Amino acid sequence: QAKASGPGAVLLFEAQMQDQVSSRARLQRSLAEALQQHAFALHYQPQLDQHGAVVGVEALVRWHLQGHGMVSPAEFIPLAEKTGLIAPLGRWILHAACSQLARWAHVPGCSHLDMAVNVSAVQFQQEAFVEQVQEVLAQTGAPAARLKFELTESLMMYEIDSVIARMKALRALGLRFSLDDFGTGFSSLAYLKRLPLQQLKIDQGFVRDILDDHNDAAIARTVIALGESLGLEVIAEGVETEAHRDALQQWGCRLYQGYLFSRPLPVAQLGEFLQQRAGGPLPP
Ligand code: C2E
Ligand code: MG
Ligand code: MG
Ligand code: MG
Repeated sequence: QAKASGPGAVLLFEAQMQDQVSSRARLQRSLAEALQQHAFALHYQPQLDQHGAVVGVEALVRWHLQGHGMVSPAEFIPLAEKTGLIAPLGRWILHAACSQLARWAHVPGCSHLDMAVNVSAVQFQQEAFVEQVQEVLAQTGAPAARLKFELTESLMMYEIDSVIARMKALRALGLRFSLDDFGTGFSSLAYLKRLPLQQLKIDQGFVRDILDDHNDAAIARTVIALGESLGLEVIAEGVETEAHRDALQQWGCRLYQGYLFSRPLPVAQLGEFLQQRAGGPLPP
């Protein structure tokens, strides 16, 4: 591309690359510092059933970088995976989510809430991951039966038997599993039926256009049917409008998450949201 735009463009291109590399290096340093300075927070996005009841939340990590604003996890999680920082960051996320879950166990109206935590494939495949989960559960006193890990299809790139063994070990502790961003990655149906999953999560990329795009609608319907025939729950992410929700509901999807109901919220605001909804009418 640079070549085609003349000799001056090559220099510009290189300068840009240099820029990217150094801002990446800067981001990487900041990430390491942020871990030490506890600059991360979890926000929680409600998940609702077809009656409009909040059945759980997804924990989503947030990083406020000074002088830079919010950095998207879509940007720093892959970086953390590449640099190995995902290990301490992932541990922090798990601990924070479990601490919250343990607190909810004693709050009326909150003890039924499930906590979904995103676990990156790199983190999941760490040698001591199962022990780490056990340790965090013990330290925080969180009820394992309320804890759910959102895994992605990138796990399928690892040796499948070791992935299954690890999932089973965590199942034995009481945890459940959701396959996040389903349909965007490497899933083979042969693997899918072997994984001890409880839930499929329809990717927001399919949900977004179900009303206009026949193919996306067909994919969403297929995932819902697949979940049903495999005995798995199906949840749709990225539900932004009532029309989305109605279509999904009509196709048999019973669980929803998206801006229609709520953005990811800091815990105090989540409390207000839950209070408002308790006994409230159907959404919104
Ligand atoms: P994800 O797990 O698929 O999370 C869903 C993303 O969609 C979140 O973005 C959420 O804020 C956003 N979202 C929710 N509802 C809507 C909606 O109605 N419309 C639209 N357009 N977007 C919606 P977020 O928080 O920026 O996270 C992006 C990705 O970063 C996540 O995708 C996940 O892959 C990763 N991530 C976030 N938090 C964590 C974490 O704690 N650990 C790990 N390993 N990854 C995380
Ligand atoms: Mg997720
Ligand atoms: Mg997702
Ligand atoms: Mg997604």
